[in-house]
Amino acid sequence: MTDLATPPMAARPAPVAQPVPARYKDCTVLAIGAHPDDLELAIGGTLAKLQKSGARVVMAVVSVPGDYAVRRREAEQAAAILGCELRVLVDGGAPKRIEDMKTYELVKVLDGVVKELSPAAVLTHGPSEFHHDHVLVYDAAIATQRLRYFDFFSYHPNFCRPVPVQFHPRAYVDISDTIEAKMEAIAVHQSQFGNRGLPIDIYRDIARMNGRIVGVQYAEGLDVGRMLLA
Ligand SMILES: [Zn+2]
Repeated sequence: MTDLATPPMAARPAPVAQPVPARYKDCTVLAIGAHPDDLELAIGGTLAKLQKSGARVVMAVVSVPGDYAVRRREAEQAAAILGCELRVLVDGGAPKRIEDMKTYELVKVLDGVVKELSPAAVLTHGPSEFHHDHVLVYDAAIATQRLRYFDFFSYHPNFCRPVPVQFHPRAYVDISDTIEAKMEAIAVHQSQFGNRGLPIDIYRDIARMNGRIVGVQYAEGLDVGRMLLA
């Protein structure tokens, strides 16, 4: 029997992805990572894409552990490849460990950069990170949301050697046109990869897997903390 009261729904086209970078054109995007290389590994393609789309992108590295001169130089080279501005937030010209800071000191540092830049979006570590420094930065970063409204995203947990981590992206950025810049920016962190004999192709693999989920060649996944849809 045919239900005449319920006409069949007309076929509708699938939603067309809107270019997220246009959302931040002429705005400042603040990316916060605990250490040099964290941002490149997780969102290097996204940052390059945002910059190419007209955003001012600030890569804020909280601290430089290890060999300060080497890692600072690598961070500068990587930021230049991605076309972004590098900031080292806790920078006395010497190595510094985030765990040595009081929680309120770290919050104050992140508050300061958010107040100065008034970002339209902040991207930082998520709560499921393997490295405790990363979790500390996440905890301090979420507190900055009280200062003003901005979109807030978390990115894929970082590691030099693969470890089991929980991460469930809710949004994806198509980085098919910036994947090579991302890989180039990662490669300059020789002290973390090449000099230790660690391959970097896993980051291309992760981007490829994320891309297949959303039907593009390469993508980076983000968890959405808050985002205003107007
Ligand atoms: Zn790190």
